[in-house]
Amino acid sequence: MTQAGIDPTRFAPLSPPPRLLLGPGPSPVHPRVLQALAAPTIGHLDPAFLALMDELQSLLRALFRTENELTFAVSGTGSAGMEACLVNVLEPGDRVVVGENGVFGGRMAEIATRLGCDVVRVSVPFGQALDPDAIAAALGTGKTKLLAVVHAETSTGVLQSIPELTRLARDAGALSLVDCVTSLGGVPVEIDEWGVDLAYSGTQKCLSCPPGLAPVTFSPRAVAVLRARRSKVSSWYLDASMLLQYWGRERVYHHTAPINMLYALREAALLLFEEGLPAVHARHRLHHRALSAGLQALGLELPVAEAVRIPQLNTVRIPQLDTGRSPQAQLDGELRGALLREHGIEIGGGLGAMKGRVWRIGLMGHGARRESVERVLDALERELGRAGAGITAGRALPAARAIWESEER
Ligand SMILES: *Cc1c(COP(=O)(O)O)cnc(C)c1O
Repeated sequence: MTQAGIDPTRFAPLSPPPRLLLGPGPSPVHPRVLQALAAPTIGHLDPAFLALMDELQSLLRALFRTENELTFAVSGTGSAGMEACLVNVLEPGDRVVVGENGVFGGRMAEIATRLGCDVVRVSVPFGQALDPDAIAAALGTGKTKLLAVVHAETSTGVLQSIPELTRLARDAGALSLVDCVTSLGGVPVEIDEWGVDLAYSGTQKCLSCPPGLAPVTFSPRAVAVLRARRSKVSSWYLDASMLLQYWGRERVYHHTAPINMLYALREAALLLFEEGLPAVHARHRLHHRALSAGLQALGLELPVAEAVRIPQLNTVRIPQLDTGRSPQAQLDGELRGALLREHGIEIGGGLGAMKGRVWRIGLMGHGARRESVERVLDALERELGRAGAGITAGRALPAARAIWESEER
């Protein structure tokens, strides 16, 4: 018998089931990234590790398309990146305008509220893009500290056009903050060209990495605001002025960096540059078009307007069965369960207002491949047919193939 009733021999060796991750994240991790994770851990102040941090910073600047000095990886998931951006530039009483067209805009508003800010939410129904006129009206002139918006709203599948919003923020004398968690590595992100002041991302969406790090970048304007604060940053762990002393020249210990996750992110970024960012974006667009064609050939509806769809996150309306109680919500659970059990495929359900009404199919990073599209279309066709959902059989894969073939020609 062993400690506290634990008998280690009764635990099976670690063996996660094989899964094709086609939900809203985490997404499939590239084998080279998994290999990098398994490299020997070295010290967080080892000169070899410090050199790796420098490399990672230049890779992240190139990924964000920025010259921002203050560009690094926060130890934590995407939400830690969100909180790091907000907590460093906001002080109690500051006025913040948040564009809210999904769950993640709402999360930014919640964090800013906890920081004691005067938060103005500019909302549109989930599934739509923000209205620039409403944002301009909310910003006013010279009274707003920050405009916060989400580039790719993973909760709804809507891609937001950013340049017009950052221009409005600048005209109003406000900083701009953009959530790039699902966009970075899937669609073009142009931090400097668009005039974005603060941005954050996460590793488990389009970067083909496990969750655990949040790349962030602060413009010189954002750094000036950080330096001019009247009060200390209310979070010790996320205080960028202290983190900068570790990531910058001083190399002062702040917290122990998650060494192996930094190896993984470095490898993941290298993979993106080996393929080339334009080719990576084109790959996401191509497989999105193939998946959309297949879903529509099945008779399924894509509720987000075509012009604002996120290629890497496809929202699908759950079909109505004409039997049973709350049939949409019932089919939701049953079908996602069957995909996972019978096919080893994970897709996402709806979040917030869209719960029980939509599925979210992610084609992110290493998951944006032909095999993913073929497998999920085949599995959906079988399981929807079995559930009696009145779909059109035999047409989905040919529709997807027609897209791939038109690209090859
Ligand atoms: C996933 C996601 C987040 C949160 O990231 P976590 O890694 O789950 O903390 C924030 N914003 C968007 C748009 C996301 O998709």
